Amino acid sequence: MAVPRLTAEVLLCHALKCERSYLYAHPERELAELEWLHFGRYLHERLGGKPTQYITRRQEFFGREFTVTPAVLIPRPETEFVVQAALELAPSGARVTDVGCGSGAIAVTLALERPLRVTATEISRPAIEVAAGNAWRLGAPVAFLLCDLLSAVSDRSQDLVVSNPPYVSSEHRETLQREVRDFEPEVALYAGPTGFEIYERLIAEAARVLRPGGWLVMELGYNGRDRVLSLLGGAWRDTRVVPDLAGIPRVLAARNAGTGGTFPA
Ligand code: GLN
Repeated sequence: MAVPRLTAEVLLCHALKCERSYLYAHPERELAELEWLHFGRYLHERLGGKPTQYITRRQEFFGREFTVTPAVLIPRPETEFVVQAALELAPSGARVTDVGCGSGAIAVTLALERPLRVTATEISRPAIEVAAGNAWRLGAPVAFLLCDLLSAVSDRSQDLVVSNPPYVSSEHRETLQREVRDFEPEVALYAGPTGFEIYERLIAEAARVLRPGGWLVMELGYNGRDRVLSLLGGAWRDTRVVPDLAGIPRVLAARNAGTGGTFPA
C-alpha cells in the first residue's frame, strides 16, 4: 500500500480493533497507552518494509477476507482474473485442483462461488495451515494435499487444474520491491534461474492428471506469455490468454488435447 494516510488509518484501526469509519465518527477519541504501543509498533514494522497485510494479517480477495501470514504470498487483485477464468471454464460439479494454494485464495473462492469439487495442493506446511484455516473460517469445502505440485493427485482425475505458480526468476530478485523481496515467501515467488522452471513441471503434471478436454488455467508473470506458450507444445488446444486491468497478459488457459472425453465450454 503506497498510500501513507490510508496505511496509517488501517494500522490505527488494527491497534484500536475498529473499522475505519469509527476514526471519522470519533475524532475526539484518545488512545490508551496500550493502543499507542501497538500503533507505534505497527508503524515501526511498516517503516521497516513489512507489508501492511502481514501486520494486520488480512487481505481481501474476491470480496472475502483472507488471513495471511508471512508463510503465504499476499493475494493480488490480478489473481482474481485467474479465478474468473476458472469459473468460466468449470461447470458445476467439476473436479478442480489448485496447485500451490498459498493462502487458499483461489481454491477457497472457487469452492464458495460454485459447487465444485475442489482440491488444493501446497508444498509448504505453514502455508497449507493458513489455507486450511481460511477454508474453515469461510466455510469452503476444500480438500488439502501437502505435496509437490500434483504428485499426490491421480492420473486423469481432474477436469480443471488452476495455479498461480512461482514465476519470478531468481536473477530478478534485486528488481523486486523491498516489501516483496524481503518479506514474502521465497517458495511462492522464485521458480529458478529462468522463472519458467515451475511452469515446465506444472504443464507436464497437469497433462497427466487432467482428463482429455480438461483445462489448465495459470497466472502469467510480466512478459511470461510467449515463453509459457512455447512450453505448452502440441499436447494442448483452445489456448487463450486474458489480460489484466493493466493490459498485461495475465491468465493462460488451454485444454488437454488428449482424446476420449468430452468437456463442456
Ligand atoms: N505477482 C507476484 C509479484 O508481484 C509474483 C507471484 C508469483 O510468482 N506467482 O511479484
